[in-house]
Amino acid sequence: MTAWLVLLISGYRPESVKRRLTLHFPREAVHQPITYRLAVDFDIAAKILRAQIAPNQSGTMVVELSGDIDELDAAELWLEQQGLALNRAPGEIRIDPERCVDCGICSSVCPSGALRFDRPSQRLQFAAARCLVCEQCLPSCPLEAIALVLEQP
Ligand code: SF4
Ligand code: SF4
Repeated sequence: MTAWLVLLISGYRPESVKRRLTLHFPREAVHQPITYRLAVDFDIAAKILRAQIAPNQSGTMVVELSGDIDELDAAELWLEQQGLALNRAPGEIRIDPERCVDCGICSSVCPSGALRFDRPSQRLQFAAARCLVCEQCLPSCPLEAIALVLEQP
């Protein structure tokens, strides 16, 4: 039996990957059903992490996209064709160990599990590889120990 037939019978689907994007909407595009079109046309799940969009104004949305990697590439191209500007690499999150007191508050707002409070050690753990750079943790820290470090152009 050929490999492709085995994959077909087993219902194989390429592994889903996640990508975090900041979408900047021009005023003309704010009414578009973006998440619906991503789901129907590209089989991509879009989880909205943050949105600042007012009617008839330009806006910004931070989304986590999950789907086949080729479909993600095609979807990004489609989004740009709709007039949206995409920011793929805004920077990275850093925790200042001099300021952090391991209170664990930030871990409660982290949607990806990148920030986790380890109960046995009573320490905050940060898995940078899981971070979506959604910035939700930034305002949660009472000691301003979390920073977004922007990449150099
Ligand atoms: S930016 Fe903060 S809240 Fe968002 S995924 Fe990264 S660690 Fe979690
Ligand atoms: S909220 Fe701030 S001080 Fe508390 S664990 Fe997170 S980074 Fe550390």
